[in-house]
Amino acid sequence: MALNPKITWLLGKPINPCGCHVCENEWLRIMDELDPDGWMSRLSRGMILCPECGCKRCPRATYHEHSCTRSNDSGQQGSIYGGFDAGEGEPVDGGEK
Ligand SMILES: [Zn+2]
Ligand SMILES: [Zn+2]
Repeated sequence: MALNPKITWLLGKPINPCGCHVCENEWLRIMDELDPDGWMSRLSRGMILCPECGCKRCPRATYHEHSCTRSNDSGQQGSIYGGFDAGEGEPVDGGEK
């Protein structure tokens, strides 16, 4: 499946106006290429939440082309907590069901 991150460029720097997991991962990849020594300043990212419902496990928080379910259930299809590959390793979840 082809992912389509919404990265835009401003003055030679990538901007992530979306904030979903897919866009965030793409932004981090670009930043690592542009500024390999600046990774420390990118470590403390905030938790990624759905912009519509605020749930971290909503499929919309994983990828902006997924629709919002207004649910924070684990294992939702299209969410990284439901096995969707947003271009990063395994998500760290508390294991709560
Ligand atoms: Zn996005
Ligand atoms: Zn949502």
